[in-house]
Amino acid sequence: MTKRRIASHYTLLDSHLERNIVVEIDTSGLITAIEHVDNIDSMAGVEFYPGVLMPAMVNAHCHLELSYLHAAIAEGTGFAGFARAIGQVRGNYTTQERVHAATIADAKMWEEGIAAVADIANDDLVMDVKQSSKIEYHTMFEHFGLMNNDVERLERLAEQYPHCSVTPHSTYSVNDASYRRITTMGTAQLSIHFAESDDESSLYRHEGSLWSWYERMSWECDFLHYGSPARRIVESTPRARGVMLVHATRATESDIRLLDDHFATKPAWVLCPESNRYISRLAPPVDILRSMGSTIAIGTDSLASARSLSMVDNMRLLGDIPLHEVLTYATRGGAQAMCIDDRLGSIAVGRRPGLVILRNADLQALRLTPEAKTYRLL
Ligand SMILES: [Zn+2]
Repeated sequence: MTKRRIASHYTLLDSHLERNIVVEIDTSGLITAIEHVDNIDSMAGVEFYPGVLMPAMVNAHCHLELSYLHAAIAEGTGFAGFARAIGQVRGNYTTQERVHAATIADAKMWEEGIAAVADIANDDLVMDVKQSSKIEYHTMFEHFGLMNNDVERLERLAEQYPHCSVTPHSTYSVNDASYRRITTMGTAQLSIHFAESDDESSLYRHEGSLWSWYERMSWECDFLHYGSPARRIVESTPRARGVMLVHATRATESDIRLLDDHFATKPAWVLCPESNRYISRLAPPVDILRSMGSTIAIGTDSLASARSLSMVDNMRLLGDIPLHEVLTYATRGGAQAMCIDDRLGSIAVGRRPGLVILRNADLQALRLTPEAKTYRLL
């Protein structure tokens, strides 16, 4: 069997950037050997790609079905304004337009080097796109609605397709019984929008714009006795459950500690800085999470609240973080978040993670640059 031998200036191996590495793969993409060599430039039969060789990436939070809303909603409207705007424009598009937009977005993610996506869905409109994609999708149907107890509808939907499950949308949009039903049934990873705005925690103090909106609509919240979004998750989600906490722009150090300590396996903090910038100009607390040794992953969120579904754009927005760290969030971090790190997100013998080249990074300072970009090798 013909094998390819691939090298780059640096290779992301086990969360470190290493020089002088040759990765050998067979025709199926299986990594058959990883060698340290001294004379990489002069070796015959090695394909050399300038930049950083890395495993294909894992997008730990997306809503592929919202791709048709690209550029449809103004930037900087804030959290409540964004939710209102989505409701207003949602009905203006045909099924064909929605499916077409998802098809284009999926192809672009593949080309950029994404191997797997944790995808949030409200229905199965773009399920065909996901099932025929080269990307591995895990679909989480999100339950929301304070007055909505019909978790079964989503459970039935999830049973119809492989790699599907049900998750609560957030700590402010799901009533107590539905939340507990979802978190105590099944073993699939949960993905919860968490601490995206101050309104979420002020709701628990009977203040803020969510509170006044719910009051105007006469919608009752039967979960405010938990005291805060973080306490609600801790008190109504079993310790053994795997959880992704998405956004977390307003999460405090004590929230993070409480949640990291509660779960048997630390939750994955899925940061979507482009979406946060787009909607509210807030930024995720990446420095606190780094200092606490939390598990960090990256999500693109949807094209309704992002200029692109580019992982590199999101990595750049996290600020001045050493290259090996931010690349690890985008690869192994996402794979851990999705519980697929035994297969994807790392370059290791015996795996087929897919290979990607990061070009135009600053290889002296080992940082991303405005021009840095990823290209799929295989
Ligand atoms: Zn989301």
